[in-house]
Amino acid sequence: MRRRSNPDLPPPPELPSFTIEPEGEEEPSVLERHAGTGLVRHDVELDEDSIDSDAAKVVRRLERGGFQAYLVGGCVRDLLLVGRPKDFDVATNARPDDVKSLFRNCRIIGRRFRLAHVLFGGGKVVEVATFRKNPGGGELVEEDEDLLIRSDNVFGEAHEDALRRDFTINALFYDLDRRQVLDWCGGLDDVKARRIRTIGDPTVRFREDPVRILRAIKFAARLDLGIDPAVYDAMVGNRGELARAARPRLFEEILRLMRAGASHRSMFLMWELGALGVLIPELSAFLDDEEATGGGGERFYRKMSVIDQKTRESGALDDVVLMTALLYEPLEEAIDGARDIMNAVNDFLDPVIERIAMPRRVADGIRRIMFMVPRILVGKIGRFARTDVYLLALEVASIVLASRGQSTAAIEALRRDALPPVPTREARRSSSFPRRDRGARR
Ligand code: ATP
Ligand code: MG
Repeated sequence: MRRRSNPDLPPPPELPSFTIEPEGEEEPSVLERHAGTGLVRHDVELDEDSIDSDAAKVVRRLERGGFQAYLVGGCVRDLLLVGRPKDFDVATNARPDDVKSLFRNCRIIGRRFRLAHVLFGGGKVVEVATFRKNPGGGELVEEDEDLLIRSDNVFGEAHEDALRRDFTINALFYDLDRRQVLDWCGGLDDVKARRIRTIGDPTVRFREDPVRILRAIKFAARLDLGIDPAVYDAMVGNRGELARAARPRLFEEILRLMRAGASHRSMFLMWELGALGVLIPELSAFLDDEEATGGGGERFYRKMSVIDQKTRESGALDDVVLMTALLYEPLEEAIDGARDIMNAVNDFLDPVIERIAMPRRVADGIRRIMFMVPRILVGKIGRFARTDVYLLALEVASIVLASRGQSTAAIEALRRDALPPVPTREARRSSSFPRRDRGARR
C-alpha cells in the first residue's frame, strides 16, 4: 500500500520536546539510558494500527527479557511519511544468541554480520539486528583517502547504531511504550521538511559506500522527497565511486529503483546526476542525444511511466521484464540490421553484465525476449508461444507499444490466451507468501 503523504500525520510537536542530559553515576533509568548522546525524544502519534502486531510482540518480548529494543530504519520513516510500511526491523542491544534464546521461531542468518530473523505465519519475517557502529573514522583527511567500508561487523550502542545509518530520515528509532521517536541527528525535522540529508559529511558517507547514491535516488523518487543541495552536489561529485561498489549490490539497487512504482522519476534522477553514465553509459548516451534518436528520451520516459502504472495496478513486474524494458531502445539500435540478433545482443550486453553483475538468468532472458519481441509485434509467434519467456516477452511488447501510444489490444488478447490455468487454492496460498525485500545489504 502506498500513499503519497499522510494527511493524518499529527501536527509535529515543538522541537525539541526534551533533551536528555547526563546525570549521576547510578544505573540509568530508562529515560536516562542514552544520557550524553545528543538524543532528542519526540512525542508522536503514529497510527498504531499501521504497526505490525508481530513486530510489536518482538520488541515487547526483548524488553521483558531486559534488553533495549526499538522499531528502526525504513519502517519508522514510512510510518511517518506514507502509512503502512512493507516490513519492520527491530534494533536491540541483545546479541543474536540472546535473541535466539528468547524466540522459538527464530533463525540466525548471515555469517559475517549475524542477524536474527523471527518468523511468523504467512512467511512474515521480523528482522532483529544488534546495535552496531560505523567502523570507519567518518572523517575525510586526504582527498584521495580510501574510505570504502568493506566490513561493518562491530557491535555498538543505540546512538552509534543510529549514526552509522545513511540518511537522517532512516536513522529514527521508535519507542513503542512511550510513543516517542528517538532522534540523534535531526531526522524528524528532515521528515517534516521532506528532505534527504546524509548523517555527517555527504562526501565521506558516499565514499564509504557509493551505493548510498542510488539509495538517495530511490528515496527521493519513491517518497517524493527533495535532496539537500550539499548532498546533491556530493552525489554528482562522487558518482564515479559507483564503479568501486560491490557490483551485485548495484544490480539489486537498480532493480529496486524500478520495482517501487517510481522508475520514471528514478531514471530521470539517475541520468541527471550522471550516475547512469557510470553504470549504464549505453543508455545514458542514448538519452543524451534527443536529436539523433528522434525523441528517444521521450519514448524512454513514457515507457518508465507505463511500468510505474502497471506496478501500481498489479505489483512489481518480473526482473527480466524490467531490465529488458530499461535497455530496450539502445538494444533495439544495437540489433538494427544485424544478421545474427543473438550475437548483437550479446555484444551489447557483455560490458553491462560486467559492470553491474547482471545475473546470467536475467541476461539470458533479455536475449531471448529481444529475439521474440520483433516477431510478436508483426504477429509471427509460432513456436515461441510454448517457451518459458513467452509471457515475459508479451509483457515487454505491451510496455513498448503502450509507450509509443499504440494499441496493446492484440497483445492483451495473446496474453489472455496464454494464461496458465487458474491456480488451485493451495498453489495460490503458497505463492502469495510475502517476499522480504532484503536487497542490497552491505
Ligand atoms: P526499503 O524501503 O527500500 O527497504 P530501507 O530504508 O528499509 O528501504 P533497507 O535496505 O531495508 O532500506 O535497510 C534498512 C535500514 O538499514 C535503512 O533504513 C538504513 O537505516 C540502514 N541502511 C541500509 N543500507 C544502508 C547503507 N548502505 N548505509 C547505511 N545504512 C544503511
Ligand atoms: Mg527495508
